[in-house]
Amino acid sequence: MLEASHYYFHKAADFVGLSTKIRDIVLTPVRVVKVEVITEGDDAKLKHHLGFRVQHNRARGPMKGGLRYHPSVDEEEATALANLMTWKTAIVDVPFGGAKGGINCDPNELSERELHTITRTFVGQIKEVIGPTLDIPAPDVNTDARVMGWIMDEYSKFNGFSPGVVTGKPVHLFGSEGREEATGRGVMLVLEEVLKEQEKSLSDITVALQGFGNVGSFAARLMHEQGAKIVAVGDHLGGVSRAEGLDVAALVQWVSEHRTVKGFPGGDAFNSEDVLTWKADVLIPAALGDVLTKDNAHDVQAKFVVEAANAPTTPEADEIFHKRGILVVPDVLANAGGVTVSYFEWAQNIQQFRWEIDRVRKELASHMRKAYQSVTRVAQDRHTDLRTAAFVLAIERVAEAAMSRTLFSEAIDLSR
Ligand code: NAD
Repeated sequence: MLEASHYYFHKAADFVGLSTKIRDIVLTPVRVVKVEVITEGDDAKLKHHLGFRVQHNRARGPMKGGLRYHPSVDEEEATALANLMTWKTAIVDVPFGGAKGGINCDPNELSERELHTITRTFVGQIKEVIGPTLDIPAPDVNTDARVMGWIMDEYSKFNGFSPGVVTGKPVHLFGSEGREEATGRGVMLVLEEVLKEQEKSLSDITVALQGFGNVGSFAARLMHEQGAKIVAVGDHLGGVSRAEGLDVAALVQWVSEHRTVKGFPGGDAFNSEDVLTWKADVLIPAALGDVLTKDNAHDVQAKFVVEAANAPTTPEADEIFHKRGILVVPDVLANAGGVTVSYFEWAQNIQQFRWEIDRVRKELASHMRKAYQSVTRVAQDRHTDLRTAAFVLAIERVAEAAMSRTLFSEAIDLSR
């Protein structure tokens, strides 16, 4: 994943004319934290996990990025995802840098008490390097509002009342209205813009979706409300399809009870990985990274791939999509709705003020559309794909901020 994020960076850096030295500086994280998270399990035996926080860049503001609880979490994955956050926050133009982290654990094998203890222990070990003006975590795979509430509480024990240390908190605990749905809503908004250019709307399309967690389920719900047919959904245990479109509300209810789409009675079962090559107009990967590869990219049947997940497409697959005329809306743009509303939440926390849901949705739509337009403008002007354009825009914004903070005599030419 790190190799892929570097590949996309260098492709764009060539457009911007970044020197090797500046590339090295930009790619090197500000700080990499690796800690042992030792806790006592329900069976009174010691549990041992590794926790990571990679702080990548702070030129444009405090660092920002999710916390993931998954067995795949390691320094390399966190570094790749922290990189992406730096570019993402710049693309949607929110005043943050990039960070990412998590704990190498499988929450499916932990009780709620164990998860709670692990979270508090981890916060105890990173509390000196996070904070409302330093680095602000948020939810990611297998973490949610409940976990964010625990983080706020633990951090506040040492620093006083600090709701702005973390976003994605429960709404009744200084969270923002609309944060939970934000990433899924952003995915829908960006897809709407893509379709507008094709003189189409959501009611004209069929969608296949991998992942039905926070991002996937909200994206499905909101697209379905606008008339899109969700024809196939796959998750970590199985898949379910219906050519006439799944009943998304019923599927959401099923998943809340069973924690998987597998077994849903309102459709036909299939092998989870087949969702990526399902016959649908739009494919939305909304689970883990590196799922679209050279081995399956030739078989993808969708005309559009909207990357709701982080880093789902390897560079080889990206190249194949490009050659096949499949339009890829990159993660750094498509899933930036979450960090955008995280910014609104942080701003509300700092101001001790609350926004109504209508304001959150209106501002999110405005940020996402503006970001989409800025990226497509760069793509048209520089005759390149959306991902390269998004990275070019982001690199220019980050570099401009970095240079304005000091007196670098070795500058890059941003006037082109
Ligand atoms: P989540 O934990 O709520 O849901 C993850 C989903 O992925 C679940 O449906 C799970 O079954 C599925 N999944 C896990 N392993 C799988 C596998 N091997 N095959 C198929 N499906 C699998 O996580 P989320 O918050 O919805 O995040 C999903 C993706 O979106 C991640 O890549 C995350 O980094 C990205 N993202 C999340 C946010 C956010 O606000 N939560 C913001 C930006 C990007």
